[in-house]
Amino acid sequence: MNFTIQNVLIATGENYTCTDVQIVEGKITAIAPNLDVVGTVINGSNKLLLPGLINAHTHSSEMWQRGVMSALPLELWLAELYDFAPLDTEQVYLSALGTAAETLFSGGTSVVDHLVLIPGQELATIACAVRAYQEIGIRAFIAPLIQDESLTAGIPTGETTANHEPFFRTTAATLEIIEAAVQQFHRPEEGVSILVAPTGIQLCTDALFEGCIELSDLYNICRHSHLLETKAQAKLAQEKYGCSAVTHLKQLGYLSDRTSLAHCVWLEDADIAILAETQATVVHNPLSNLRLGSGIAPILKYCQAGVNVTFGCDGASSNDSQDLLEAIKIGSILHNVTDFDYRHWITPQKAIEMASLGGAKGLNMAEQLGSISLGKQADLVLYDLTNLSLLPRTDPIGLLVLGRPTNVVDSAWVNGKQIIANGQVTTINVDELRQELFNRSHWTTKRQSQTVAEIEAHYRSVMGL
Ligand SMILES: [Zn+2]
Repeated sequence: MNFTIQNVLIATGENYTCTDVQIVEGKITAIAPNLDVVGTVINGSNKLLLPGLINAHTHSSEMWQRGVMSALPLELWLAELYDFAPLDTEQVYLSALGTAAETLFSGGTSVVDHLVLIPGQELATIACAVRAYQEIGIRAFIAPLIQDESLTAGIPTGETTANHEPFFRTTAATLEIIEAAVQQFHRPEEGVSILVAPTGIQLCTDALFEGCIELSDLYNICRHSHLLETKAQAKLAQEKYGCSAVTHLKQLGYLSDRTSLAHCVWLEDADIAILAETQATVVHNPLSNLRLGSGIAPILKYCQAGVNVTFGCDGASSNDSQDLLEAIKIGSILHNVTDFDYRHWITPQKAIEMASLGGAKGLNMAEQLGSISLGKQADLVLYDLTNLSLLPRTDPIGLLVLGRPTNVVDSAWVNGKQIIANGQVTTINVDELRQELFNRSHWTTKRQSQTVAEIEAHYRSVMGL
């Protein structure tokens, strides 16, 4: 579809200019005032055009438990999450749609879904997420979440000798599932990519990481993982490897310019140097880190070391929303308290660049996505600057990032296809989605997790509580 956006505000560094933007066959073909009209005319007056942002780490099916999770640190929180994960594939489909819709309504046009797989229905789970993302039209990077150790292996043993149940599926069988997923669903030109995504060093063997590296090289696909989200994981890495998790992943060969790593809260300076050297991307999930008490990732240190950083919402059970602009706001100003030198603080313009081009870099798509540039794919978002939350008129990006923008997305396109128009999703019926989410859930009160009861004493003792 071809179209011309007229008289729209775009950012040029710290300033703005009013211009026309022409899109032909999904690509940006001209940016200049008073262009000849090609295709449909879109009125850009009093609107701001930005590249689509990237929700670079989430777990869509966590939507079913948002709002109800206990105040627990990650290791215990996960136990509760899995005790009450009531998933069927239809729920996976609906929560993927919900995650996509909330991402779109907060400026995102791409989502990285570190997708929790239903045991025994792994490929069916992925198929449902693919169907949802293709129907709504968001650009999807599906990273099937895999592990090959059982939950208790993720907690440091301390002085005890721990015996963990073996994981229910072999490492080889898990890798076969991922290879099948790549063959069946990896279609970047159709907006769906598959990533290899071991959950993290806390629940994965070296063999699983090595198998993922092989698949990544064989099929030219990106790599994703959680990394050092909690203090317990940093402690576990020392027990497991006798060195930091980052050093170990570097030795395995997992870190690269197409590797994105969620959280990165507990890194030392030497680890940061390794991320800079290997050109891996850090995905900052500030709301989740606050909600689970994981800590504050040293984002300003990453930026100063030249590490590429972008933002994610993380799953909605540790957030408890999928508002990307909210994650960007908190993820920017949170660091004003960690670094007294205000010259290092993240400006709104920088935050938007991190959330767009930074996200694209981490997905090995910086040539195709992440900025309003000639030849790039038209993943674009048009914001209504007459919306009450963006008034009075000041600095549009400043207010978009630092304010509390509400219903400000007027239009969004992915690869030139319009999926939001006049503030409404055009591809799916959002009212029906609301009805389904309502019908398939119920008001919930405090729950008792059996697994938390079993492992809490050990966790407290090993963490010195
Ligand atoms: Zn996560």
